[in-house]
Amino acid sequence: MKKDRIEELREEISKLENEIEKIKEQRDNCTHEWGEIECEKVTRPIYDIVTYGMLSDTYSKYVPTGKFETVDVYSRCCKKCGYIDCTSSVEEVPVQVKKVPKFRG
Ligand SMILES: [Zn+2]
Repeated sequence: MKKDRIEELREEISKLENEIEKIKEQRDNCTHEWGEIECEKVTRPIYDIVTYGMLSDTYSKYVPTGKFETVDVYSRCCKKCGYIDCTSSVEEVPVQVKKVPKFRG
């Protein structure tokens, strides 16, 4: 490859890197406005953490069990920057108490 071409490509790379940095900055500073939450069932392998070795000379490894689990993966997309946020974690939220008319009869 010619020297000029190499220099040209270097400049192109650094230009694109700067652009990526700017986009990331915009995303990081975005006060996300989330769209609707979508839920998708995803089947994924189950892993065990297995520890090898003895005494202080040990290491752990994720080993597939050969079993699979199906989980709900929730995602939401920011309307402003397009960032997609995914999670399979859920939390329990108390159901709000609703007031209904109480008749005598
Ligand atoms: Zn956003």
